[in-house]
Amino acid sequence: MSQHTDTIVKMVLDSGRDGPHILLLSGVHGDEYEPMIVNHRLYQQLKGQIVRGRITFVPNGNETAYQSASRYGTDGLDLARICPGNRTGTCSEQSAYLVSELIKTADYLIDMHTGGVLYDIFPLAGYGLHTNPDVLNQQRRMALSYGLPLVWGTDPRPDGRTLSVARDAGIPAIYLEYGGGTGFRSYVVDAYVAGTLNLLRQLGMIAGEWIKPAPEKVFWIEDARQDSGFLQGKMPSPADGIYLADARVGQQIEKGAKWGRLANPVTGTTTDLFADESGLVFLMRNTVKVGEGDALGGILPITQPGKVTIDEEGNATKEPEVDFTSVFR
Ligand SMILES: [Zn+2]
Repeated sequence: MSQHTDTIVKMVLDSGRDGPHILLLSGVHGDEYEPMIVNHRLYQQLKGQIVRGRITFVPNGNETAYQSASRYGTDGLDLARICPGNRTGTCSEQSAYLVSELIKTADYLIDMHTGGVLYDIFPLAGYGLHTNPDVLNQQRRMALSYGLPLVWGTDPRPDGRTLSVARDAGIPAIYLEYGGGTGFRSYVVDAYVAGTLNLLRQLGMIAGEWIKPAPEKVFWIEDARQDSGFLQGKMPSPADGIYLADARVGQQIEKGAKWGRLANPVTGTTTDLFADESGLVFLMRNTVKVGEGDALGGILPITQPGKVTIDEEGNATKEPEVDFTSVFR
């Protein structure tokens, strides 16, 4: 089925004065609802409040994915893998094209997500480790300004993402992840709204003092290893089965500790699952029935607040007492 999407629904608040153009994007994945509500709430709340620059709000980036309550559009495509899309392609390709064209007009991109139906995710702001140090530092500043407990810089090389469109255009960009599963989490909305307002204050786009992030509360990891940010590749399930998780998002776990079990409903046999790394459990699969190779969850190698930097070869450097002043210079 091909649906033609010549425009994308967007709202704009313009101060009428010079300043940055922010693109606040949600609905790239159609089963991630809290960010859609964030977009509308901020649009209402910020009317008449912006003192410089402008904000473009795109609440529903992939219409057919929302209509099918799915990560994927009705063409089966994931918008976050096909950017910059195709103006005359399938429905998701057209949405990817329109989103990508909008990104190129922005000075900052904020792409809001959740774990969707499949995952629960620890609150995080993420970005690619951009090769331009100025862009990278602006992304660090944006991510830290959200005040979420996890800040995650990853391999910037994967293509097809909204962030890779921004990367190629030299536009600072971050994405947000928090929660997921069935049901609606108003605390995710509250956290994203508060973080966006803080970023806007930090950028001088709305009045008020911005709140500096507290280094002693932030788990900050920058991991340059290949595909370090690829969630769907984490902890592949060894078999089909019924997934019984013991680990919980937000906990610390030791490598080799019990992660959960996989039960076979036909034979009744169970297989124990163990943590493949020590650190913070930041990702957990929500669905009970899993297939072989499905990502069951993820651990980040950070055990306390502060910063961990991992180079391409996997060598880690820890800074327990991290100073944010160089980022907010
Ligand atoms: Zn998503």
